[in-house]
Amino acid sequence: MAIIKVQKGTKDILPSEMPVWHFMEEKANEVFSKYGAKEIRTPIFEATELFARGVGDTTDIVNKEMYTFEKSERSLTLRPENTAGVVRAFIENGMHRLSAPVKLWYKGPMFRYERPQAGRQRQFHQVGVEVFGIKQPSADAEVILMAVNYLKALGLNDLSVELNSLGCPECRENFKTKLKAVIKQYLNELCPDCQSRYEKNPLRLLDCKVEECKAIYAKPEIQEVIQSDFICEDCANHFNELKSYLNTLGIKYEINKLLVRGLDYYNRTVFEIKSNNLGSQNAVCGGGRYDSLVKNLGGEDIPAIGFAMGMERLASLIGNKEEIKTKAFVVSNNMEEALKLTEELRQKGYSCEFDLTNKKFVKQLEKASKVAKYALILGEDELKAGEVTVKNLDTSEQKTVKREEIELI
Ligand code: ATP
Ligand code: MG
Repeated sequence: MAIIKVQKGTKDILPSEMPVWHFMEEKANEVFSKYGAKEIRTPIFEATELFARGVGDTTDIVNKEMYTFEKSERSLTLRPENTAGVVRAFIENGMHRLSAPVKLWYKGPMFRYERPQAGRQRQFHQVGVEVFGIKQPSADAEVILMAVNYLKALGLNDLSVELNSLGCPECRENFKTKLKAVIKQYLNELCPDCQSRYEKNPLRLLDCKVEECKAIYAKPEIQEVIQSDFICEDCANHFNELKSYLNTLGIKYEINKLLVRGLDYYNRTVFEIKSNNLGSQNAVCGGGRYDSLVKNLGGEDIPAIGFAMGMERLASLIGNKEEIKTKAFVVSNNMEEALKLTEELRQKGYSCEFDLTNKKFVKQLEKASKVAKYALILGEDELKAGEVTVKNLDTSEQKTVKREEIELI
């Protein structure tokens, strides 16, 4: 019969890869807890409208990449990202009543119908943080610090932080007008996506990955507009304070005026962290401030800032981690006693296995040396004396001890 294969753009995460995933997950809990963040888990599917309103209906994510289906006349969507879901949960559970800041972190699978390639899947995983309730740039600095320190805890170096300010809706409007004016004459030469972005969301023009468009945006008269300081005084003060906090913290960053991020909801601070060791999909982290999202989704007027990281991209940078071996393997031809001793060891807190097929003694020992750190030998003599021979399979040292006194390190 024909075998059924894993779907395009999705992957099994096999036991041999699990140590890296556990490492990323444990470090997330460890690092984010230090900043007072608590984990939240929201459903994998939500009302389609949440993403249309929360991510923005001019984005690629909403227009092209969502897995949407209908059940009982409801339109549902597999989450393409988790910010909208976390904001929905924040509002629905009245978390604005908690004392600010409310710091939440999450991890889990996301779904986007994209063209699969290295570092880009249709089901992938993100780990992320959202901080609610603080409008001051100290929160921006803390969120960037959380991202940087998490990456450090994973042992990742050679990363660069890129920073930009998109200003507020007011100062951005001004910028959009200038940008549209200077790009207008090239409109026919732009890709179809950019032609529609031009009307719907001109800022996103700068995010285009098409070479011909990039070449146009590199023209001096367009660059002059892009590089100009368009943000208002309040936004500039916010940005300057953030930069000065980052300087104090010793976090290196570069200003990238082309950084607009893919989602519609950002204002003021946006940032990305890129690896110099990945191919073209080199962004490991994207984030920014989204002061109007809670309100737009029907909540109070609560500012927020957060980031998300792609865990597959992190995993490929971390490389392999050794699988953890079983602590002990009981070697004995007395099945009942082997079963009992194995369970005794598990009750003591050790991982322990024995040969379920009762093979010859030598075969059992061979198996033990493959999978375990210690062989616990239970022969006739040991059984009579109530003892066990503990053999360290790395060093071949062995000693016989009382069964109750087994201690393994
Ligand atoms: P990109 O420019 O790489 O498409 P994005 O702007 O769509 O990224 P975000 O939505 O901000 O990315 O997601 C944050 C992070 O999640 C990215 O920096 C990346 O590491 C990861 N990511 C996004 N889409 C995918 C995907 N399809 N497969 C694997 N990782 C992804
Ligand atoms: Mg994308």
